[in-house]
Amino acid sequence: MDLEKTLLRRVGEAIGRFKMIRDGDRVAVALSGGKDSLTLLEALTRLEKRAPVAFTVCAFTVEQGKFLRPIEPLAEYLKSRGVAWTYFRDTPSLNLLNDQPEHGCDLCSRYRRRAVYEVARGLGANVIAFGHTADDFCEAFLRNAMFTGRLSALPAVAHSRDKEFRLIRPLVFVSEEVTRACAESLGAPVIPCGCSQKTGTVRRALRDMFAGLQKDYPHLQKSLLSALGNLEPQRLLDPRYLHLDDVARPGAGGEAQDIALPGDWDIG
Ligand code: SF4
Repeated sequence: MDLEKTLLRRVGEAIGRFKMIRDGDRVAVALSGGKDSLTLLEALTRLEKRAPVAFTVCAFTVEQGKFLRPIEPLAEYLKSRGVAWTYFRDTPSLNLLNDQPEHGCDLCSRYRRRAVYEVARGLGANVIAFGHTADDFCEAFLRNAMFTGRLSALPAVAHSRDKEFRLIRPLVFVSEEVTRACAESLGAPVIPCGCSQKTGTVRRALRDMFAGLQKDYPHLQKSLLSALGNLEPQRLLDPRYLHLDDVARPGAGGEAQDIALPGDWDIG
């Protein structure tokens, strides 16, 4: 596998399909310290030089007190690659860690989101790029379907509430097999987050289940991603997407249409 080619082709496909980057954009890459966002940064800095639209790239990291190793090697690495990088120690997050060490993801991600917007604003960016991969999309889809009763994954493109920022996930078609190999071949220093070591989580269970299935069915991830872009709402159970008033009339000819049973027809 030609790693660079594979990476750029898949990132380019996502950017094009979801109109992620436009002429004049300033894209700030959120570096988490992991292999995925470092790979994303590499892809975007390469595309910056050859893409059909003119855009610029910068990077930043929000420190929330959860890194397990010193951040300095990352600073050196980015300097050697000529990347403009901002390191932001987020005081409210650090205080949160002291005051409520057992806080959950809701609070942590809310603090991070506020810090991310603050840094991106300071960098003059209008686009923020996150390193969520194809694995993350599949995991989110399975988690939502199996644990929250919703058919959804992650948005490939979204906007901040007031539309100040376009939020993009250009690694949607890139697997972690590829980001792992890319980060290794770049010699990028990975700074793990304490949370990534947690065991016994739903996330870990889903990942293990998916990895186990993929051993026997190697096209599973591709197929799941393809399913996310190929909805058949008439074969799901959401009445908002069903034409329930268009039922076949007796004697009208044509094939009768299957319709969903409304609640009071529940034959349980
Ligand atoms: S996994 Fe850790 S770093 Fe991520 S949102 Fe949850 S608490 Fe925060």
